[in-house]
Amino acid sequence: MSGMTGHEADVVVVGAGLSGLIAARTLLGAGLTPLILEADTRVGGRILTEDLGGLPMELGAQWIGDTHHRMFALAAELGVETYPQFDDGETTYELAGTGVLRGNEFHDRFAGELAELEKVLRRLDGLATEVDPATPWTAPHAAEWDAITAGAWYDAQGLSPVARTLLEICTVGILAVPTVEVSFLHLLFTIQTCGVTSELFAESEGGAQTTRFVGGTAEIPKRLAAMLTEHLVLDAPVQLIEHGSDSVTVHCRGGRTARGRRIIVAVSPMLAGRIMYDPPLSGYRDQLTQRMPNSAAMKAFFVYDEPFWRADGLNGQLISDVGPARMSNDTCIRGDDRGVILLFLEGEQARTHGHWSEEERRAALTAELVRHFGERAAHPQLYVDGEWGSRQWTRGCYNANCGPLVWTTYGAALAEPIGPIHWASTDTATEWSAYMEGAVQAGERAAAEVIEALTK
Ligand SMILES: Cc1cc2nc3c(=O)[nH]c(=O)nc-3n(C[C@H](O)[C@H](O)[C@H](O)COP(=O)(O)OP(=O)(O)OC[C@H]3O[C@@H](n4cnc5c(N)ncnc54)[C@H](O)[C@@H]3O)c2cc1C
Repeated sequence: MSGMTGHEADVVVVGAGLSGLIAARTLLGAGLTPLILEADTRVGGRILTEDLGGLPMELGAQWIGDTHHRMFALAAELGVETYPQFDDGETTYELAGTGVLRGNEFHDRFAGELAELEKVLRRLDGLATEVDPATPWTAPHAAEWDAITAGAWYDAQGLSPVARTLLEICTVGILAVPTVEVSFLHLLFTIQTCGVTSELFAESEGGAQTTRFVGGTAEIPKRLAAMLTEHLVLDAPVQLIEHGSDSVTVHCRGGRTARGRRIIVAVSPMLAGRIMYDPPLSGYRDQLTQRMPNSAAMKAFFVYDEPFWRADGLNGQLISDVGPARMSNDTCIRGDDRGVILLFLEGEQARTHGHWSEEERRAALTAELVRHFGERAAHPQLYVDGEWGSRQWTRGCYNANCGPLVWTTYGAALAEPIGPIHWASTDTATEWSAYMEGAVQAGERAAAEVIEALTK
């Protein structure tokens, strides 16, 4: 990686997550010189693959889905192979005090509740079509929908307890915050950036979680970074951005500086708000970044000598209102015989259990796995989990959410450039916001704005 003493570039990019890397690559392709300043000692941000006993464990982003066209194209271009997510067998359910039921039994017993859930999801799909993801605040019912939480709207649907609980689990699995914290307009925005609820919630055909990367997701940012070596500085946290009408001077920790004609800030809105700006940004923009907190999610992996649940006809997916995890997944690695189960702690579960010691967390999750998959689940070879709130350069995942009245009051400040400052990161995307696909789309959009400004 190059140093940065007295560095001059056409465009400075803050952050070497997927969005910043894509922005820089797009600028380079247009004949402009980018300089990426990355706070961490690695690239990838919310993409983090760690080795565990020779297996690539995805502590960050793991899947893409069939409509993530940019990500499929990127993987193909970078030579990263993909493979399908395992999805054969029954899910196990543990809801409403029933103990653990296999999928068929659960579906028989709660057919009416599942039909209620389906009806609400179709209703959500219909309402979401009224929301333009680029301007959610212009939706005909924006004021009404932004004044209530998604949880309040759910509560008003007259659902049975089982249907309401399933709806909460599905939604928290996407937003990683309790639905009482999120504006209903934000939920509809999220659905609309992805297409329909089945795209979000389904793991099988058409969902967001159908496909994985050979060698791990981190191969994508690593290979992008290798193409940008001369334009990337690691361990360079940006602390201050001085900006004029057509220039920026960027100050990093340690007194290092860089200059450019434009800057793309490719970090989540909350972290963008922790950078100082001179002159200061408007109160309108700052109030927005004060109101887009990152959510809370953790992943915990158990590795076994084999995927023993498959022999029982199970797909390794659990759904539970007992917890600690609300959901799990068969995360076996292609080409390896070992069995890997991934448990998700999201929203309140992540907040609570993130404070526990790893031993306590592991014990509670093991007990849950034993309830669902039997005694063999008590004997993993390996365990690892990942907490994101403590990571200084992420501070929570999967993404930023809006509570009530944020979109309609401050939404226009999210992606609108301010002088030479442009905004990227998946949190500013209008397609698949919160996902890698969104990070790419936002990086391309911010780069296009800069190219237009500098070459017109
Ligand atoms: C646990 C987890 C699971 C996920 N699962 C999936 C999944 O299965 N599929 C999917 O599509 N998406 C998933 N995501 C979301 C996906 O990872 C993100 O949407 C995407 O990686 C965001 O990329 P980004 O570039 O927008 O932001 P980031 O990855 O957050 O990149 C921002 C970069 O900026 C750096 N930075 C921050 N502050 C500064 C500063 N002041 N100066 C310089 N640099 C700074 C950070 O270190 C980071 O490298 C998951 C995320 C997590 C954490």
